[in-house]
Amino acid sequence: MDGFALPSPVERIRFRGRKYFLKRDDRIHSDFSGNKARKFWYWLHRDLSQIRKVVSYGSPQSNAMYSLSVLARMRGWDFEYFVDHIPGWLREHPVGNYKAALENGTVFNEKPIKVRNGSWGEEVLFVEEGGRQAEAEEGVRLLAEEIVDWQREKGIGSLTIFLPSGTGTTALYLQKSFRFLVPHSSLLTHIVTTPCVGDAAYLRKQFAMLESDESNWPRIVDLPKKYHFGKLYREFYRLWLELYRESGVEFDMLYDPKGWLVLTELVSEMDGEILYLHQGGLKGNESMLPRYRRKYPMLSRTL
Ligand SMILES: *Cc1c(COP(=O)(O)O)cnc(C)c1O
Repeated sequence: MDGFALPSPVERIRFRGRKYFLKRDDRIHSDFSGNKARKFWYWLHRDLSQIRKVVSYGSPQSNAMYSLSVLARMRGWDFEYFVDHIPGWLREHPVGNYKAALENGTVFNEKPIKVRNGSWGEEVLFVEEGGRQAEAEEGVRLLAEEIVDWQREKGIGSLTIFLPSGTGTTALYLQKSFRFLVPHSSLLTHIVTTPCVGDAAYLRKQFAMLESDESNWPRIVDLPKKYHFGKLYREFYRLWLELYRESGVEFDMLYDPKGWLVLTELVSEMDGEILYLHQGGLKGNESMLPRYRRKYPMLSRTL
């Protein structure tokens, strides 16, 4: 398909004296990238001639919403998105994912969604919040295949893949794919994740909705301190700035700060190579970064 850079590149970065591999899924495509490109891959390339419209729901700032608006535009479908509430300031000054979704023709429906999957007509593609659906497995399997090919080529026997989770869909299907792809080989590959929305119990519930066999679940690691999704934390911003300065890579500001915080705590007990999965989400930084700058002006000077 045009404009898609697949397999996505793997780079070497250094952070706080340690080397990491970085899988750049943020580079898949200029508009359609990150783990949403993997999760929505199935709908991008299938022959779905009966579909006229995509319907989904969630926050008006969501990365998934933006990617669905791109999917709909690419496929010539309408996109209707249900939100509980659009803040007045956002409506007056659209930014980030919301602005881009509007530009892609998204129709916002400001009321709680009542009709769930199964009750829409056959011309509607209904997508769960954040893309937590079985169809995501296909695109995530392709990601796993890319990593296995790369791992074999590089001769990396023991690899830990780390990624922060929202719904956990990407981490779960990655773990499942690896069990399927390298069941008896000499490659040892572990998936480790941390919850960014809710706690570990919440994440396990998300896994259970997609996969009953717990041996296919990735390892969950969390910190004692509870972080609320979408809230701003000084240590998140500090880490994000430090990452940016040291590695030259822009990471997402919602999931990756928690991800790197956990990973840097964990790293002393890990041997073998570590691959961090860059899952995109940079459009969301267009609204997150100004919020951080306003809240922590002193830290921002070092950017
Ligand atoms: C959506 C998203 C996640 C969470 O993905 P899940 O599959 O829901 O766990 C993580 N990072 C970024 C940048 C995202 O956009």
